[in-house]
Amino acid sequence: MALVPSADLTADVIVIGGGPGGSTTATMLARQGWQVLLLERERFPRDHIGESLLPASIPVLEELGVLPAVQEAGFLQKWGATMVWGTDKTPWSWYFRETNQRYPHAYQVWRPHFDQLLLDNSRAHGVEVREGHQVVDVLFEDSRAVGVRYTADDTAGIARARFVVDASGQGALLGHKLQLRRWDSFFQNLAVYGYFAGAQRLSAPDNTNIFIESYPHGWFWHIPLHTGQTSLGAVVDSRTGQEGLRRRGPQRQPVRGRSEGGQDHPARCRRARRSPPSRACGAPGAPAPRGLASHRCRAGEARPCAGDGGSGRWRARRSSGR
Ligand SMILES: Cc1cc2nc3c(=O)[nH]c(=O)nc-3n(C[C@H](O)[C@H](O)[C@H](O)COP(=O)(O)OP(=O)(O)OC[C@H]3O[C@@H](n4cnc5c(N)ncnc54)[C@H](O)[C@@H]3O)c2cc1C
Repeated sequence: MALVPSADLTADVIVIGGGPGGSTTATMLARQGWQVLLLERERFPRDHIGESLLPASIPVLEELGVLPAVQEAGFLQKWGATMVWGTDKTPWSWYFRETNQRYPHAYQVWRPHFDQLLLDNSRAHGVEVREGHQVVDVLFEDSRAVGVRYTADDTAGIARARFVVDASGQGALLGHKLQLRRWDSFFQNLAVYGYFAGAQRLSAPDNTNIFIESYPHGWFWHIPLHTGQTSLGAVVDSRTGQEGLRRRGPQRQPVRGRSEGGQDHPARCRRARRSPPSRACGAPGAPAPRGLASHRCRAGEARPCAGDGGSGRWRARRSSGR
């Protein structure tokens, strides 16, 4: 189907992507009086990994004016982390208050809702947010970015601006175009994760902590959520992970562990039942396992950019619908 041209859009700044990086950048700029147009490919709320925030996010949320909305959302307050790491198999906990008296907690957020709150906050600050708008190219004149080309439903258009910010996450649109992306040879990881009901939580006062356990090939995470679900994931070096996915499929991967050397993690997962399908964050060339949305993420170093568009170490490419 031929795309129908839509009227050109103009702004001072175009932000590509409405994740936390994009919405934060857009809100900050709008508060300085800039006219900001944010183009987001998805329609929110959309799925996203990354639930366990750190206290350093709280002053940023405060400055954005979105902290009250986050506080009212019912997300679990997270006071620290519990770990089983290395040769010592005894779980130990640490607490943010030990190093941060002012912000002794963070949140375990449900990202579809959290990201929506941030994007709505951008709108409330005067950002023109257009969801369902996929940027397909960044336009350059004399080696300066002057706008973008986008598609939306059955239309195609051009938006022009003095500045373009790439906040497209691990897709790193601009990083791809300018071939700026660099592989980090150390962080060649693959994560398989999913959301589970019935996973055993830690005892109070650690019941809202993130729980992390290492095993010979990597580590597991448990993140309790206010929905009653637990985000469970296994991080493994890319090669070992791909081999495992090929051999035994992804479906039980996040809850496995004893055979790999994990101890606490498998016990906590004994009664866990997966809610939606597991997801994998894999290496390039890894086949998307059946029934699984596969992400392939690479570091992107495009500038100017915000969020994972610039600093991500994970690899992500959506290869099948969610
Ligand atoms: C396995 C894994 C576990 C993680 N766990 C945690 C955690 O526990 N805690 C934590 O703080 N972080 C975690 N992270 C990191 C966290 O997910 C990211 O840092 C965060 O989402 C980055 O935000 P962002 O705005 O840069 O990118 P994103 O949140 O990915 O947002 C980018 C947006 O850009 C849009 N977009 C992409 N391309 C285009 C385009 N061409 N046109 C228009 N829009 C586009 C996308 O739809 C998306 O909405 C984890 C990451 C991974 C991979």
